[in-house]
Amino acid sequence: MSGQNAIATNNRNYPIVETFHSVQGEGYWTGANAFFIRLGGCDVHCPWCDTKESWNPERHPQYYVADLAKIAQQTKTEIVIVTGGEPLMHDLLPLTTAIKELGMAVHLETSGAYPYTGSFDWVTFSPKQFKSPHPSIYKHANEIKVVITSEYDLKWAEQQSALVPTQTLKYLQPEWNTPKSKEIIFNYVRNNPQWRISLQTHKMLHIK
Ligand code: SF4
Repeated sequence: MSGQNAIATNNRNYPIVETFHSVQGEGYWTGANAFFIRLGGCDVHCPWCDTKESWNPERHPQYYVADLAKIAQQTKTEIVIVTGGEPLMHDLLPLTTAIKELGMAVHLETSGAYPYTGSFDWVTFSPKQFKSPHPSIYKHANEIKVVITSEYDLKWAEQQSALVPTQTLKYLQPEWNTPKSKEIIFNYVRNNPQWRISLQTHKMLHIK
């Protein structure tokens, strides 16, 4: 990267809800040591969202890319997970460029509601019916993870999974506060082995 480009990247800032060092709780990378960067801003407005405080980006302090990358590096983790909120409301190229330059892998957790930006090693695509995904996301999805509250959501899961590459891993995840969703998913996965169950293990362990 040229000197001027590096300065432009490092001077970019983002609204940050929180950063923390934990393990990935959901999906394929469950249990993996990771550093999380939670960006502010989301207008998808899922009724069961467990990070509603992230919705308004104005409520959160701005952090420079260089500082975020430095904090991540200090944890000595190999994976940085960019989550939200809806991270794709922001241009993620400066952030992913800076993190990758320090030798860490970057993962994305997104509803895909905005055009894909950045350079990621793993993309968790979690489509939401409350705001349709942008078409640019589908080809990047390494896993598709659909939160299930009712039988109706299974149709949405099938519609969306028909649009991702064939090798994309497929997960159904029960909505934490909807007990019947576990049974719905269990029965569905038994009859549809292309799907797997994803559980929010961080909530079971009472960790972030
Ligand atoms: S997309 Fe994610 S952050 Fe946005 S409302 Fe839905 S669950 Fe919450």
